[in-house]
Amino acid sequence: MRIGIGYDVHRLVEGRALVLGGVTVPYHLGLDGHSDADVLVHAIMDALLGAAGAGDIGMHFPDTDPRYRGISSLLLLRHVTEHLDKLGWSVGNVDAVIVAQAPKLARYREQMQQNLAREMRVAPDQVGIKATTTEGLGFTGRGEGVAAQAVALIRGSV
Ligand code: MG
Repeated sequence: MRIGIGYDVHRLVEGRALVLGGVTVPYHLGLDGHSDADVLVHAIMDALLGAAGAGDIGMHFPDTDPRYRGISSLLLLRHVTEHLDKLGWSVGNVDAVIVAQAPKLARYREQMQQNLAREMRVAPDQVGIKATTTEGLGFTGRGEGVAAQAVALIRGSV
């Protein structure tokens, strides 16, 4: 077994959708980025790749590549799962935290869990998702951006 860690931040801006865990969350701001900027999925992919010693998402999906413009990060997660499978790894479990002052995310958690579990080929209870605020402190507290942290355990699928 191996473990990995991932961390990501995206800026909140006007005129973009807020996509977290593949769910479009109603909000007046969205995350800026080359892909759909799904900060939760990005942190999870880096945790998975880190666990496998297989680089990071910047290496696999460069933001200079027009193929990834506006792409759903769930699709990228599917690619990462397939890449790990080729390397002989399957996902054990993933646990993640979304750090955002607003909006409230609890009601979207189950759908995020299902989306992520499907792409990683695991059961929903192998995907932990929490959301927290920072009590108004820092860039997340001021609503300037959203951060996400994730840990992942992978297993040799032999
Ligand atoms: Mg990112």
